[in-house]
Amino acid sequence: MKDQTKITFWGGLDTIGGNIVSIQFKDYRIITDFGALAGVNIMDLLSKETTHSHLALGQLPAISGLYPKAAIGDFELESFEESALNTIVCLSHLHLDHLGAFGQLPEELPIYALEEAVDFYKQLEKTSLLPSYAVNWQKVTAESTLQHGPFEIVFHESDHDTVGAASIFIKTPDFKIVYSGDFRLSGFHPEKVLNWAQKAHEFDADLFLVEGTTFSHFASEPNPVDVALAEVTHSINSPNEIKLMNSIEAIAQEHSEQLIAFNGYPQNIERLLVLAELFTTLGRTLVMDQTYFELMKPYLTGYLNVKYLLIDGNASIEVTDEAVSLEMLREMPQHYILQFDYERHEHVFTLPAGVYFHSNGMPLGSYMAEYEPYVRRFVEAGWEFYHANVSGHASQSDLLLVNYLTQAKLVVPWHTFKPDFYGQAIEEIGLQTWLPEYHVEYTAAELSDMIK
Ligand SMILES: [Zn+2]
Ligand SMILES: [Zn+2]
Repeated sequence: MKDQTKITFWGGLDTIGGNIVSIQFKDYRIITDFGALAGVNIMDLLSKETTHSHLALGQLPAISGLYPKAAIGDFELESFEESALNTIVCLSHLHLDHLGAFGQLPEELPIYALEEAVDFYKQLEKTSLLPSYAVNWQKVTAESTLQHGPFEIVFHESDHDTVGAASIFIKTPDFKIVYSGDFRLSGFHPEKVLNWAQKAHEFDADLFLVEGTTFSHFASEPNPVDVALAEVTHSINSPNEIKLMNSIEAIAQEHSEQLIAFNGYPQNIERLLVLAELFTTLGRTLVMDQTYFELMKPYLTGYLNVKYLLIDGNASIEVTDEAVSLEMLREMPQHYILQFDYERHEHVFTLPAGVYFHSNGMPLGSYMAEYEPYVRRFVEAGWEFYHANVSGHASQSDLLLVNYLTQAKLVVPWHTFKPDFYGQAIEEIGLQTWLPEYHVEYTAAELSDMIK
């Protein structure tokens, strides 16, 4: 039989995250991405001592020729060392649901990601904001072609709430695939998403693997915790990043005499940078949690007023003029905006209460037990509590727009709890969808036959 492309899905078809697909042509193979399967604890995936038991329990995809022999043990699966396949992993972005199983991979296996993502990973690793994975990182430049045997792979910049997010185009001798990665049109760079979607159209993709996070939830009765908290808090939750910044600016100007506090998501470094810029122009200094300050350092430009907080207890660190003490915050609260992490926030309650922005920081929402007591503690301490979130994922209408722009011949809606519901919406705009099954090897010819 003629050589052809073979595609197998290993995770993420009906859940958010853990999206794993393998694409093979002769003895060359690409795997993208490699996060934890749904329900598997990321911390349990750090060591190869657990590979065998995870495989036995179905908590790792049983992909042949991928795991080191020593880690597989007596589980019946061809090892990386025994395999004749040339395998690489391509990574769309630095979220744990896309890279959380990297600890299970052989150290020499090449992992390709945009250079911005690899550099940012090194920063996140250094500051322990992501686990340390002993893997073979390879940097890719956006829009340049990476050749892997018969595969031509191009990473295009995208927009998601992390640095270096990409959409990945894969061309084989008989098939063209676009892997969307996670994306949104509501970030600081919607043009990047529209650019790759247009390129995907020109690429004439046969298959579009497209995320659908926001197609997972239906309008339902509001959570009683949220209803109760709404009475004592305010919301500037926004449809996009720019609107959020405008709202923060307006509130900051109304409270020019008070301390402002901010709890955000560390990987959304652009929001932190724009925040630093905004408060620099408002004459305040952004005082960061020291870990975040280390993370941000390579991205800070000279004119920004950004320093870090010196807390009692981290006195071991060298005190420089980049440090601000709690005493300084108490004396001149109106000169600062304090950024902090949930893991280290006790000191906030020793400061004069002001305005607090909860901006996609931990705890994320009312589905987490610690959320309600956390919010109430701020309110009771006299803080004006603002919900200040923007989603990292495209809205339903934006997802459909990108699908329509891409015009792929066949669309796999995944990275959603409701692939059928999402698929139906894609069909309604005139595109053909397909819901694959796990662990089945589909050939390019079979898929081409399906296309109407
Ligand atoms: Zn994801
Ligand atoms: Zn993501």
